[in-house]
Amino acid sequence: MEPLRQKLERLTQNLWWTWRPEVRSIFRDLDLELYQRAHRNPISVLRQIDTRQMENRAMEVDVPARIDRALRQLDEYLHPVTTWGLFHAGPLSTRPVAYFCAEFGIHESIPIYSGGLGILAGDHLKGASNLGVPLVGVGLLYHQGYTSQVLDGTFWQQDVLEPFDLKDLPLRPSLTPRGEPARVGVEMPGRTVWAQVLEACVGRVRLLLLDTRDPANSETDQALAARLYGGDQRMRIEQELMLGVGGARALRAVGITPSVFHLNEGHTAFAVLERARHRVQADGLDPWAALKEAAAATVFTTHTSVDAGHDRFPADLAEEHLRPLAEGLRLPVQDLMALGRVNPADHGSPFMPTVLALRQSSRANGVSALHGVVSRAMWTSLWPGRPEAQVPIGHITNGVHVSTWLATEMDQLFEARIGTNWLDGMVHPDLWTRIEGVDSAEIWEIKQVLKARLVRFIRGRVAATRAHQGLPPVDPPPLDPDALTIGFARRFVPYKRPDLLFTDPDRLAALVNHPTRPVNLIFAGRAHPADQTGKALIQKVNRLLEDPRFRNRIVFVENYNIHVGRNLYQGVDAWLNNPVRPLEACGTSGMKAVLNGALHISVLDGWWAEAFDGQNGFAIGSGESHADPEIQDRRDAEALFRVLEEEVVPCYYDRDPAGVPRAWVKRVKRSIRTLAWRFNSDRMVMDYVRHCYLPAAVAASCQMPPA
Ligand SMILES: *Cc1c(COP(=O)(O)O)cnc(C)c1O
Repeated sequence: MEPLRQKLERLTQNLWWTWRPEVRSIFRDLDLELYQRAHRNPISVLRQIDTRQMENRAMEVDVPARIDRALRQLDEYLHPVTTWGLFHAGPLSTRPVAYFCAEFGIHESIPIYSGGLGILAGDHLKGASNLGVPLVGVGLLYHQGYTSQVLDGTFWQQDVLEPFDLKDLPLRPSLTPRGEPARVGVEMPGRTVWAQVLEACVGRVRLLLLDTRDPANSETDQALAARLYGGDQRMRIEQELMLGVGGARALRAVGITPSVFHLNEGHTAFAVLERARHRVQADGLDPWAALKEAAAATVFTTHTSVDAGHDRFPADLAEEHLRPLAEGLRLPVQDLMALGRVNPADHGSPFMPTVLALRQSSRANGVSALHGVVSRAMWTSLWPGRPEAQVPIGHITNGVHVSTWLATEMDQLFEARIGTNWLDGMVHPDLWTRIEGVDSAEIWEIKQVLKARLVRFIRGRVAATRAHQGLPPVDPPPLDPDALTIGFARRFVPYKRPDLLFTDPDRLAALVNHPTRPVNLIFAGRAHPADQTGKALIQKVNRLLEDPRFRNRIVFVENYNIHVGRNLYQGVDAWLNNPVRPLEACGTSGMKAVLNGALHISVLDGWWAEAFDGQNGFAIGSGESHADPEIQDRRDAEALFRVLEEEVVPCYYDRDPAGVPRAWVKRVKRSIRTLAWRFNSDRMVMDYVRHCYLPAAVAASCQMPPA
């Protein structure tokens, strides 16, 4: 018989477990304390647990049977009889889509993401896996891992490198068709930088990760991909070359010939140049024909409305780095530079990878309807003479991977009330009408359970934080489990306005301390390690929280990540989002909260601008903008307080004799019915297949000679 440890190891080798709570719970039940210490990483648990102790414990908690069942399910998942992709993405089956991204957020224990972009990419891979869409992810392995956010005694964010061992990741060398470990080299100024190609399995999808710790590299170059978005402009452009050029070469090295390159953000843009370069070198194509062909097979997604979010590399730096590609393409380097300049004739102007990607792709999109509009306006000058409405940038609104974010209790509710096949049919609106028939008391009870769990989680975190800050514990412990609980978690940057509620501390104090209708507020979020403005915002909010009027009602939770996020989305009653419109390209945290029965309270920005129907959540303001940011902030703060005081709070506290807030739960049902089918990763990936991948694959194959 196969030993238990070996079976468990097999289970950890595919990241399928990341969205299967019943599989994660096997490892938790083996040793809860170790599981938490190991950041809920099953491989790490297995490496540290004593075999004898594990076997004894396994018998106590029925682990052997649960493992067998999980292995059977994994096997069935990996060898499906049929999938959506088989019917709808057939042309991709021999030549998959290559999904390039600088970060992938798959699980908190895999430190290759920083925020929304990465988590979206992770959800995209999981969605493609579920649907059976042939797709392979391409990214970098940031081998130094994460920094965790720790606030010091003055509430200044310290970025502490978390100890981390690559052996704890389910990575293995990618092999060439000849069975040798794949390795790629990328020419950089004065040298070649090497990377080994490793891979992880995300369900049915492979994720290739480039690892620059190659012995042939200098020490500096080994550290090229040590940290996500670390370093200066030079390091950044070199990381992007490694990702784009190295990524395209890695695919070739392991014998994958993608039909379509899906480039996410400008960071990945160099891939398209490498694809063309290879055709010139290998098949003798004319450079411009090769560039045209590569563009036809490329789709590009822009993920931000914030101008500063797009890299601008100084001309000298870019030229130096583009030279090898230009030589390979047999083009003057200035021709490549021109592809990345807003105004091609303006020599000396910076090189923008986003501009390169927009020019060198056949389809481009933003990530919500409003973001499509904003992006068309933002990039009009790339299509001189065209009216804004005809700028060729469309949109596909983001969605979230439901199984990753859904509480087990909600999953069970959907199983029982929507149908056992709800996961497979979730993109169908009809299915969700069944939520209307569910007893409001049942939904309410589930939310109470989830909220109680969240409050326990938060109290534990707050106590630990205060202890290491040298502050006394909050007594009595913060948050009232019966109070309306609103979450706000996101990167601390000015446009997201984490301090908007604090513009009127007296009004806020009155709101949260209402004698019969109290409100809990939970804040979380990090700043980029180099972002002093963001860190100052965190400090400002935390200082304000020292006000005794807030101490028991409003908390800040350190170290927002997938784990903290999952707890928040599942437990809160409502989710708050108050960015400066229209700077939030999409936003996805609200979608995760909505799936778990929370109501979204948001400025009509990003996805909410197309999702809000008047009754499936709450709107802050009515979508107006003002050129003067101060006036805009004042108006939005007023609108925010008004919706909280006049709509949200009264609705939540209006109870029937049994204590159930009927009108509130009615809104929750409407929110789930109208939003769940649209804002999930199945719908998102289906949209990409239909509107981007298939058309690009077909157009590209018409151009290309048979392989
Ligand atoms: C979903 C998620 C994000 C992105 O959410 P936004 O609404 O885009 O801010 C960021 N971080 C974590 C941990 C998430 O789970």
